[in-house]
Amino acid sequence: MTAAYPRDSVLAVIGDGLGSLLVHATARYLGFDNRQITVFGPSVNPVGTYQQFAHNLGQTVLRSESESHFLAPDWPTFAQIDAWSRRSPAPLWRSTRRKYNPGVPEILTEATVVQKRMGWEESRVPLRVGWLQREMEPMPHFVLYDEDANFVGRSKHVMLAPGHGPLSFPPVLAKARTDPSLAERIVQAYEPKRYVPGGRYIVLGAGIASVNEWANILDVGGSALALTRNPQPETQDLNVPRCLFESLGIDAYVALPFEQRVRFLGEVLKGTRPDRRQWLERIERGQREGRFAAAVGDIAEIEAGAAGLHVRIDGKSTDIGWLDVTGIVAGTGFNKSVLTIPLLRRIVEFYDLPVDNGRLKLQTNCGVPGLDRPESRLCCMGLIANNVIPHGDTIAGLKFIARRFVSDVARAERLRRRSFPRRLSLQLSMGRDVARALRSVPTTEQLA
Ligand SMILES: Cc1cc2nc3c(=O)[nH]c(=O)nc-3n(C[C@H](O)[C@H](O)[C@H](O)COP(=O)(O)OP(=O)(O)OC[C@H]3O[C@@H](n4cnc5c(N)ncnc54)[C@H](O)[C@@H]3O)c2cc1C
Repeated sequence: MTAAYPRDSVLAVIGDGLGSLLVHATARYLGFDNRQITVFGPSVNPVGTYQQFAHNLGQTVLRSESESHFLAPDWPTFAQIDAWSRRSPAPLWRSTRRKYNPGVPEILTEATVVQKRMGWEESRVPLRVGWLQREMEPMPHFVLYDEDANFVGRSKHVMLAPGHGPLSFPPVLAKARTDPSLAERIVQAYEPKRYVPGGRYIVLGAGIASVNEWANILDVGGSALALTRNPQPETQDLNVPRCLFESLGIDAYVALPFEQRVRFLGEVLKGTRPDRRQWLERIERGQREGRFAAAVGDIAEIEAGAAGLHVRIDGKSTDIGWLDVTGIVAGTGFNKSVLTIPLLRRIVEFYDLPVDNGRLKLQTNCGVPGLDRPESRLCCMGLIANNVIPHGDTIAGLKFIARRFVSDVARAERLRRRSFPRRLSLQLSMGRDVARALRSVPTTEQLA
């Protein structure tokens, strides 16, 4: 059952996605109870938003590895729980070689166990927050309102976890999508779609989402032209170099001035993809059969055509010219500007917060400048925090931010923390519950 409101809490999360689950689980693990925590958001479960995108993309295993999972502590790792559950050393062996990626059904099963055991739903108020007001009397706190300006509660500490802005399309595609005769043939990799056997598709980009779509198209017997602005990116297992997932790497990154951090992010995030054995096999087979090709260029014009779309491509070196295709898939991700998220835009404008190129200039502890205080924190997580934590938009990054935030709140509130033996017993019993639940989930095939 969801929580009644208006509701006062010690800490509130605005957003009901994976970040909210990690803040909630960490706070419960440390010793906060459900009455002290509020999660605001309309989703009945915290994996809903991610799961929909993963389903649309056809993602079967995570890109991330064994440490990225939803128990508050890292140990036991997901590979250890998986090995325990299936009585098999294979996950451990793969993990030592960095070739283990949790399956999507498996990780979602763990998330569900954590959600239920910690009572995430009991802390959730099922609505979207439209506004938050800083108040200083009788003590620093925030007053929260829904999108119709109704009062929904107060909280001393707030984590902003609204996820991503809208899906992004290059201007030529965005314009074509306003024409009803073309719109349904131009989709984002993260949108629902159906490929037809014999269909010819252009896939924009060469990051993980695009590579997934090449494989999906080839699997149904279609052909794919991989179109990139630049020559194909380097392969890389994670979405930023592995060293940036660790505290030393994060500290070195945070020590850079804001402008250098943003430049660096632009470099490391420019469409990397993991080298998946199975994808490669499928793509090489497609190439041999003349069903896969790659080109460097931009789509310059789109009109209705015999196969569905008639598309002109400006090639970088050779002129590719006009092509007849069944559809176009853009692996161009989300709009990364905070100004595309309505709540953030209102906060930025009202409190006159510093934004550079669509990125909110956060403090190095992910605090919102001018509003965040040690005794009443206002923090960001997810994509909007990746100028501080480069992998902020991954499970590992969300967990890192959640831990720092909850520890700060515990310190400010002088929380009587759960004792070490009680924490150990909680994490072991939760690991056991996850291992049990995994037994009824078919093993997902590893791709690396
Ligand atoms: C296809 C795909 C594959 C991925 N694969 C991996 C992977 O393999 N490994 C990995 O570590 N990460 C992966 N990620 C990244 C990871 O899933 C996301 O970073 C994660 O979902 C972000 O969590 P979040 O809580 O910030 O946002 P989300 O999970 O997007 O949740 C945000 C929620 O907040 C709600 N919300 C927004 N505004 C408000 C408001 N004003 N009030 C209340 N609620 C609001 C939204 O409705 C949404 O439900 C993947 C992401 C995608 C899209």
